[in-house]
Order: sequence, then C-alpha cells, then structure tokens
Amino acid sequence: MTSLIQDHYEPLELIGRGSFGQIRKVRHRADGHVLVRKEISYCRMSQREKSQLLAELKILKGLRHPNIVQYMHHERVQETEEVHLYMEYCGGGDLAQLIKTCRDAGQFVPERIVWSILTQLVLALYRCHYGMDPPPLNDLFAPPEDSPPIPSTVILHRDIKPENIFLDADNAVKLGDFGLSKMLDSEHSLATTYVGTPYYMSPEVLLDQPYAPQSDIWSLGCVIYELCALQPPFTGKSHIQLAQKIKEGRFASLPAGYSAPLQRLVAACLSLSPHKRPTTHILLQSELIRLHRRERE
Ligand code: ADP
Ligand code: MG
Repeated sequence: MTSLIQDHYEPLELIGRGSFGQIRKVRHRADGHVLVRKEISYCRMSQREKSQLLAELKILKGLRHPNIVQYMHHERVQETEEVHLYMEYCGGGDLAQLIKTCRDAGQFVPERIVWSILTQLVLALYRCHYGMDPPPLNDLFAPPEDSPPIPSTVILHRDIKPENIFLDADNAVKLGDFGLSKMLDSEHSLATTYVGTPYYMSPEVLLDQPYAPQSDIWSLGCVIYELCALQPPFTGKSHIQLAQKIKEGRFASLPAGYSAPLQRLVAACLSLSPHKRPTTHILLQSELIRLHRRERE
C-alpha cells in the first residue's frame, strides 16, 4: 500500500460546498497544523479534463505570494474518485462576509482599509499577470516605471469576487479560489459555473470576447466599488437586465465620504473599453497605493 497524504490529516468540519465538491478543514496529525482541503470529484470528468486539472494544479502550486491563498499539495484518491487539494486556511472570513457585516451594521469600511485591501489585491494580480513581482519601492536600480515587465507566464483569475477574497487570522488579504474557473471550464461544470449572478463579469466577457488580464481588472473595480458602496456597481432584477447595465457601464458614485482619487481609480477600472482600464503596473504607480505598499514593505 502506498501512503496517502490524507492519512496524515485528521478530517475536521466541512466549511463550504464548492461547485464541484466540498471544502473541509483538516489537521495534520503530527504537527497540528490546520489546512483546508478541497475534495474535487473527478468521476464525471473526461481524460482530457483530468490531465488539464492536474496540469493547472501544478501551476497553482508554483504560485507563491503573500496575498494569494497558498496551495500546498494535491493527490488523487482512487477509492473515492476525488482529487484532494490542500491549501492554506484563512481564518478571517471573506470579503463578502465583511461587506455584509458592515451593511447590517450600517457602517462604511474606512477608506484606509479599502486602500490596504486594494493594494494587496493589486500585488497579487501583478504577480499573476506578469509572472513576477514589481521591484521594491526603494530599489534605485529598478527599471524606469513607465516600462511594464514582459510577462513570462500570464495567469488569469477569471472569478474575482468578494466570496473569493479571504482574510487570514492577521487580516492579510488572500486572493483564492484560483484558476479553478478556468480549470473546470468544461462541459459538465459550465452549468454550475454560471449559477451565481454574474455581478462581476466584464462587458467584453458578456459579449463572448476572449478573457484578458483587463477583465480581471474590471472585476477588481467591482469588488472595490462594493467594498465602499456595500452593493455591487451593477445590479438587475434578472440576468438580462444586469447584463444590459454592465454593457451600458453606468454606475452611481461612491458614497460621499470616499475621496476623489479612490472614486477616479474605481471608475478607471470600470471603463467599458478594456484598454482604457489601468494595468496592475499602472495601478502600482498610484500615489496612495505606493503609500500603502510602503507601509507593508
Ligand atoms: P466555490 O466558489 O467553488 O464554492 P471556494 O474555493 O470559493 O469554492 O470555497 C467555498 C467556500 O469555502 C468559501 O466561500 C469559504 O467560505 C470556504 N473556503 C474556501 N477556501 C478557504 C480557505 N483557504 N480558507 C478558509 N475558508 C475557505
Ligand atoms: Mg468561490
């Protein structure tokens, strides 16, 4: 009998039900370390889908960043026809919960916190979109800021929304639920992928145009907007109405307490035309993002 990773972990409670299986907390029997395990059922996947899933998991494993939920390892469990994906546990909840708590309490998220969350998300997305980190702010030998790096590999998230952005126990922001939308973008998952209301879907994706890094920027704009307004920028009574609103690209201004620079940044991310949206490279040049980066470095 070969030893399985799962033998080293004690299963704890279920914490979520994903579109393709369940999510469970597990504890390492030897060192007590708590992780999260995604239990993905592969019995309905084709051979091609299975090999694509494993290839994508390898990419995710190589993606190490303080603001990205860390994937540790994965294994195939033949007995239950599942792929188990082990990842870092984020004990601080997700942004959807934070937004709901604030809405219920009738309180706005302080602007300082909004910039801090935005800065961390931009750093996570920079890594994905350019395959490397930006030079440190105090790096005198860094190339001039007007030249973005040539990306080595481009990873698109494709499903940026408050439910997929986690907070760890120290309130650091972690982008999660990564790549799975792309990985499981197959026949059998399509139906379930689109169960949710596509509040964060960009106009070009609604028009069936290819998904690009700038489509992630649109979704980022939606998330930051919702963090301030406590409701998404585009809403509708039906999918058709929502899609119409998104394609028109009109949205109410942020609540009065938020600054003009924040308002402008969100509006730029929500430009209808993808090339008018700032890249993560441009976003990092924003004075307030630089300020918040400096506080973290
Ligand atoms: P899906 O979107 O397919 O349902 P997610 O990865 O978003 O799958 O997980 C669903 C839920 O499980 C999340 O909203 C969250 O409550 C919980 N969860 C997932 N990953 C983690 C994690 N790393 N740490 C803590 N909770 C998590
Ligand atoms: Mg999710």
